[in-house]
Amino acid sequence: MTTFNDLQLDPKVLQAVTETGYETPTPIQAEAIPHALQGRDVLGIAQTGTGKTASFTLPMITMLSKGRARARMPRSLVLAPTRELAAQVAENFETYAKYSKLSMALLIGGVSFKDQDKLIDRGVDVLIATPGRLLDHFERGKLMLNGVQIMVVDEADRMLDMGFIPDIERIFKLTPFTRQTLFFSATMAPEITRITQEFLHNPVRVEVARQATTSETIEQGVCMVTPSRKDRGPKEKRDTLRALIEAEGDTLTNAIVFCNRKRDVDIVAKSLKKHGLDAAPIHGDLDQSLRTRILTSFRDGELKLLIASDVAARGLDIPSVSHVFNFDVPIHSEDYVHRIGRTGRAGREGKAITLAMPFEEKYLAAIEDLVKKPIPRIDNPRSGKAAEQPARAAETPDAAGEKPKRERRSRNRKPRTQDKVPAETPIEAPVAEKAPEAKSAEPVKRERPQRQPRGRGGRRDNGPRVVGMGDHMPLFMTRDLRALQEAANAADEKRDAEKAAKAAEKAAVAPETEESTEEVPAKKPRRRRVKKTETVEAIEVLADEAVSVVIEEVQPEAEAEEKPAKKPRKRRVKKVEEPEAPVEGEAAEEPVKKPRKRRVVKKKDTEEAPAAEQEKPAED
Ligand code: AMP
Repeated sequence: MTTFNDLQLDPKVLQAVTETGYETPTPIQAEAIPHALQGRDVLGIAQTGTGKTASFTLPMITMLSKGRARARMPRSLVLAPTRELAAQVAENFETYAKYSKLSMALLIGGVSFKDQDKLIDRGVDVLIATPGRLLDHFERGKLMLNGVQIMVVDEADRMLDMGFIPDIERIFKLTPFTRQTLFFSATMAPEITRITQEFLHNPVRVEVARQATTSETIEQGVCMVTPSRKDRGPKEKRDTLRALIEAEGDTLTNAIVFCNRKRDVDIVAKSLKKHGLDAAPIHGDLDQSLRTRILTSFRDGELKLLIASDVAARGLDIPSVSHVFNFDVPIHSEDYVHRIGRTGRAGREGKAITLAMPFEEKYLAAIEDLVKKPIPRIDNPRSGKAAEQPARAAETPDAAGEKPKRERRSRNRKPRTQDKVPAETPIEAPVAEKAPEAKSAEPVKRERPQRQPRGRGGRRDNGPRVVGMGDHMPLFMTRDLRALQEAANAADEKRDAEKAAKAAEKAAVAPETEESTEEVPAKKPRRRRVKKTETVEAIEVLADEAVSVVIEEVQPEAEAEEKPAKKPRKRRVKKVEEPEAPVEGEAAEEPVKKPRKRRVVKKKDTEEAPAAEQEKPAED
């Protein structure tokens, strides 16, 4: 077995390492350190918790122990994605270089440029920085990178996630081509591979198996949270989290709660505080001084619960964290390993509990694939054994118990999104016939049309929405009104023809009534009135499946009885009836002139009225 003594480290470094209590190098240290000391580029594929920080700091200190730094020209450069991680690397340097006379500067955001400038001006052996702040210094002309002999990129995959890759490329180009590069990443995404191919020279690839990072000393569990209602998921998750924390009792000395989103970090922290728990959030949007204060109080054991995002907590080395809670199942399975690696460090025992909603089970499956073992489902302290059921239900969707409702809901959700268009198109089909079928076959489709109208008016405007009338929709509404109108018009025309024939007969009997015959059109209002009555009646009659025959035969009789005594009404009827046809509404005013003619005619009518009146009953 390799020992630290075998690694040819500087004796001062060895002394510092011995004082930390490390007995043997970790696999990545044992493999990477010898190559690094030979001046080779190293591509380390390892995650946090593997001892990778020491795998580059120990050889760096050894190599930099010879030589001196020049003003504004650091001899080595370490890039880290976050301020916390950069600060942690700086702590490692302080620990391992305590017997080596090396100068060091930490360039991170949230700290005054002035103090950092002073350090750089004096010349530093090791410059530890986040990419953004480093480039800020460079652009201000306070820093030169052409003296960099060793460059380290730590957590490259996280740099990629945070959009730092262009900055990293730029920094690479600002450093000498002859530099030595030590490059670490937990995963090798295509973009990371491209960078290593471009900027690393014949690197030694050192890989630490993933499963080794899931410590056996960590007890893991998944607590299913199946919300009682879709919109209550987050709240019920928070309730469950509290219940889980309380259930751990005194075994929980401190814990990190991971959330997938920054927004949730704040919400969960506030919620826990509101319920009397000692919690504080940490994420990238918080002021640096606040982040540092919160982190320090957590490290010092003053703060019990740290609610964190992945980025903020990535790589944090807090030696004794008793519990890790995943408020959300991490979407990237590697993050699960990182998160739970915050507990159970250095052989200690730890517990990691993941809260999962049914929709997150696919992420759980990916994690179980990665760590190559199933994560046991544990009881939900809020609902007892029921909490276990959703996990089983994922395999057997028909399982009985509390779930049917929930299962049905989630099953409905998919077709709604997938079949958006098909679900709506049938609505345009004859509703009265489709709706009853939909009730039994596709309840979701039935719901949709009822939700669509946004106002009362909307329903009236759109024909198919008469579905809102339910079972009481009058039959006539299923008929084509144009057909009814045409039937009524046909009846009109027929009657016109009959009247004209009668008028002709009259004219033949009494030639002096010619003018009144010409006035027949003045009788149109009566016909129209009949038409109106017919239309209404036709609608009713048609509803009973009896059509225009009735209109023609019955109506004239009824009208005829009124006609003789009510001649003057003709004019009124004409005016009133015109609006029946809305398009002709304006034209309806013009016929008002006609009565003038009638007045002229009336004189004759009046003279002839007795005769006419005598005749009409005869017609009937
Ligand atoms: P890192 O992967 O660099 O974040 O290191 C993870 C943890 O392992 C840190 O707490 C280190 O102090 C610790 N560590 C590093 N090297 C060793 C070692 N050889 N033996 C025991 N612990 C170590």
